[in-house]
Amino acid sequence: MTEYELVVGIEIHAQLLTKSKLFCACPNRFGDRPNANTCPVCLAHPGVLPVVNRAAIEKLVKAGLALNCKVNEISRFARKNYFYPDLPKGYQISQYEMPVCTDGRLDVTDSDGKQRTIRIRRIHIEEDAGKLLHEGVRSGSLVDLNRAGTPLMEIVTEPDFRSVDEVYDFLTQLRRILRYLKVCDGNMEEGSMRCEPNISIRPRGTEALGVKVELKNINSFKAARRGIEYEVIRQTLMLDRGEKLRQETRGWDENKEESFLMRVKEDAHDYRYFPDPDLPPLKLDSAWIEEIRKTTEELPRPRKERIIKEYGLNEADADVLCSEFAIIDYFETAARKAGDGKLTANWVMGEVLRAVKAGGTIESFPVRPDRLAELVKLIRTGRISSTIAKKVFELMLTSPNSPEAIVEAEGLGIVSDEKAIAEAVALIISENPEQVRQFLEGKDKVMGFLVGQGMKKMKGKADPAILNRLMKEAVEKSRA
Ligand SMILES: [Zn+2]
Repeated sequence: MTEYELVVGIEIHAQLLTKSKLFCACPNRFGDRPNANTCPVCLAHPGVLPVVNRAAIEKLVKAGLALNCKVNEISRFARKNYFYPDLPKGYQISQYEMPVCTDGRLDVTDSDGKQRTIRIRRIHIEEDAGKLLHEGVRSGSLVDLNRAGTPLMEIVTEPDFRSVDEVYDFLTQLRRILRYLKVCDGNMEEGSMRCEPNISIRPRGTEALGVKVELKNINSFKAARRGIEYEVIRQTLMLDRGEKLRQETRGWDENKEESFLMRVKEDAHDYRYFPDPDLPPLKLDSAWIEEIRKTTEELPRPRKERIIKEYGLNEADADVLCSEFAIIDYFETAARKAGDGKLTANWVMGEVLRAVKAGGTIESFPVRPDRLAELVKLIRTGRISSTIAKKVFELMLTSPNSPEAIVEAEGLGIVSDEKAIAEAVALIISENPEQVRQFLEGKDKVMGFLVGQGMKKMKGKADPAILNRLMKEAVEKSRA
């Protein structure tokens, strides 16, 4: 039996988070009434001319720099010709021979911790097509052109992946980078990030590439993994039976968990690419590229290293906090105001993320970072215990008031009044003669129980140091 090696290259389409479309001023917005966001330009009326959206190019350059690409000062738009009912022009404005970004790379980690570099061949910009709607339509299809002309970035890697884990790590990192940069929301389920792996196998130890299959309709990281694994088996079985593989485009059926033939793969020349005569070459000023480089948001990896140092966190905590830019932004705002990184980190990873998980997003979470910082400060300064803090936090979820005001209104502040604490202590001692006797006979652990009972009696509000001291004194006194 021949042993085969997996070879994968991927193409990723990412929708750019711009306010308007790529070549007109229509809003780039999801979920509006069908065809509400259209104009003569994106409807391809005769005689209209496209104008490039500067913000889209800026986002593309940002992503290119983050992926270590060369940003070309001159690139070109090209027409990709094909017919489809959701493509009013009959061609798509894309880039072909001269894309904006070339020669990038991203390091990936295999499941056994080995690092390898994946080369990025190119990143270009293009417009998206509209959508065909079939749902609730009795016969035929409806066309919604709200998405027609919205900006897409296409990232193409070299066929450098040798395992499914590497692909998975690449997609995870890429999604995180694009979200950190606010270039794309990375939502695969809603189609704002689409991935098409080109999969082939070859006898291990050989150099020539096998016949590749392009897999479409991948709408989650899990589907990417399953789809590639499925193709490896399918192609291996075919080769082992002595059958010939064809270069084809296959779809992924999520429910059946199998791929199916869509079409025998077309080549680039089928699209009759040619430079778009309506758009001059795109010239990017090197000073502008430098400006973008300088003002680009901090990337996930360096940011993680920095927060470990700056806030004294461990690797595992930093991983949780850096998993999403919204979480790390929230954490850093709170930690700076609270003046205690470790305690703030514990609160964000514990109560905050737990509450967010129960419903909603961290962006819309009712306890904003400045209020969490105030709560952490109350704990730090000993004004409330951490048990009480959890209670205050619960109240903050439904109240707009500051934690200080809540503590005040609910009478939750720590009680350091010795007289009040002594009264509670006396009660506990008289209620628990058996435990007091055990302690006096040398069972030190019982003290924890007695203090716990005292704290309960004080509804968690007693100053723990005073309570501990008074309880010890009182128990010792009862020895006499
Ligand atoms: Zn338009």
